[in-house]
Amino acid sequence: MSNSDETPPKSTLPYPPIHKDKKFVILTDWDGTITTYDSNDYMTDNLGFGKEKRRQGNLDILSGKVTFKDGFREMLESVPNKFDECKQILKDNIKLDEGFRAFYEWTKSADVPVIIVSSGMAPLIRAVLSNLVGEEDADKVEIISNDVKVNEDGRWKIQFRHPTSGYGHDKSQAILPYRELPDPPTLFFFGDGVSDLSAARHADVLFVKAAPGRESDLATYCDREGIPHILFESFEQVLPMVQAIVEGKMTKEEAIEKGKTF
Ligand SMILES: [Mg+2]
Repeated sequence: MSNSDETPPKSTLPYPPIHKDKKFVILTDWDGTITTYDSNDYMTDNLGFGKEKRRQGNLDILSGKVTFKDGFREMLESVPNKFDECKQILKDNIKLDEGFRAFYEWTKSADVPVIIVSSGMAPLIRAVLSNLVGEEDADKVEIISNDVKVNEDGRWKIQFRHPTSGYGHDKSQAILPYRELPDPPTLFFFGDGVSDLSAARHADVLFVKAAPGRESDLATYCDREGIPHILFESFEQVLPMVQAIVEGKMTKEEAIEKGKTF
């Protein structure tokens, strides 16, 4: 399922320009990180073939029986609703980490770019995000994700960013250009799942979301691989820490140490 490191997959979708002159850049997953429940799981469970089959699909992906891309596409193809209906249903039902609004406001005032890096589809992300930060900000926020092809009759199909990658969207391609800058910024990454793995390992400070009572595949993986990370439950909780690092009051090493007691 992984890509060879030497040959990055070709992207069928554009990337936003790199922020070359920033000292700090935040990249964050969407589903399960900014949202409290994965929106694609929500559609599959409630509109598509249901939770049981979706869970089996997840297991098949984890065991390597199918690629993430193929398993994910099958889940989405089981959703019969038109695209605009899906958008409205998600807008009505998907809840967001309440702390993200204040977090996002602070990043704007501190001139720290935030980029959402997702396996989901950009129009759905913007629709749900508008609930929390308003239409204007939701339209402006940078998103590197997959996209969607909507037919005239409203039927739709996911359009993968990296069709040759087993992930459909190889998130490492969003973070690596920053790593390769001559004077790279400090990179924060926020995530929770398997699809975040490839990007998470390139972060300077990695925050792994583990909501109470919910598993985090990314945390399990980081523990196994010995990748330093900070477990967090909400953006409200981590805002002071990110602020302290950006303001030079805390080093990233101190943050990781402090994160152990969260
Ligand atoms: Mg996620």
